[in-house]
Amino acid sequence: MRIVIKVGTTTLTHASGQLNIRRTEALCRIISDIKNMGHEVILVSSGAIGMGVGKLSLKSRPTDIATKQAAAAVGQCELMYTYDKLFSEYHHTVAQMLLTGDDLGAADRHENFKNTLQRLLQLGALPIINENDTVSTDEIKVGDNDTLSAMVAVSAHAQLLILLSDIDGLFTADPHTHPDAKLIPTVHSLDEDILSLAQDSASVLGTGGMKTKLTAARLCMDNGCDMIIANGADPSILYHILQDGDAVCTRFVAHAENA
Ligand code: GLU
Repeated sequence: MRIVIKVGTTTLTHASGQLNIRRTEALCRIISDIKNMGHEVILVSSGAIGMGVGKLSLKSRPTDIATKQAAAAVGQCELMYTYDKLFSEYHHTVAQMLLTGDDLGAADRHENFKNTLQRLLQLGALPIINENDTVSTDEIKVGDNDTLSAMVAVSAHAQLLILLSDIDGLFTADPHTHPDAKLIPTVHSLDEDILSLAQDSASVLGTGGMKTKLTAARLCMDNGCDMIIANGADPSILYHILQDGDAVCTRFVAHAENA
């Protein structure tokens, strides 16, 4: 199976912006194991700005473009260094791919991206994708990695996109404010009732929320790819999704006619 896994900043870092070492180590070990099982994996990783905040000892996530882009330049480097080091322990080779919305919108560059991605997978490498935050401006950026990862999943003809987040999935109400909220295990259609459940729930260091996740779900479902939202706090959730089939998560099922 070809799988795209997206990890958010809150999964990779502590609230301080510093790397969550225990979790990131577990994530890289488990993704290595998933590759060893024979799956093709593409990782879409946020965390450039978040890790830049930590490395530059900034007090909070910057709001001005120049500092955000500077933080991304520092943090992307740190992010890839960390991935390279951890995946190397399990003999997996990582490849960095940085994209803007423009790259996916222009036919020739999109084609080039797909060809390179395909070649990397054939060579057994692990493509690690992020938005090219250091150059992206409002006009050309995708803006959030939930949407970017769905675009990547569709471009790569992946069967499954897994969004690892700081929440177990889609709930009937915001579980932070409604303790009786129930997890919705399966979604077959993004009807009004489901869309109304999306809250703007961006965290301190990340970018997306439930809204961007539902945008991603629509893109996937319309293009024959299932999408799962699961909690990345314990990366072994990936085993429960891919092997045991007993994961606590929400699965958005692709429309059958497009699968
Ligand atoms: N590209 C941003 C980063 O690496 C994150 C975007 C997102 O979290 O959606 O920091």
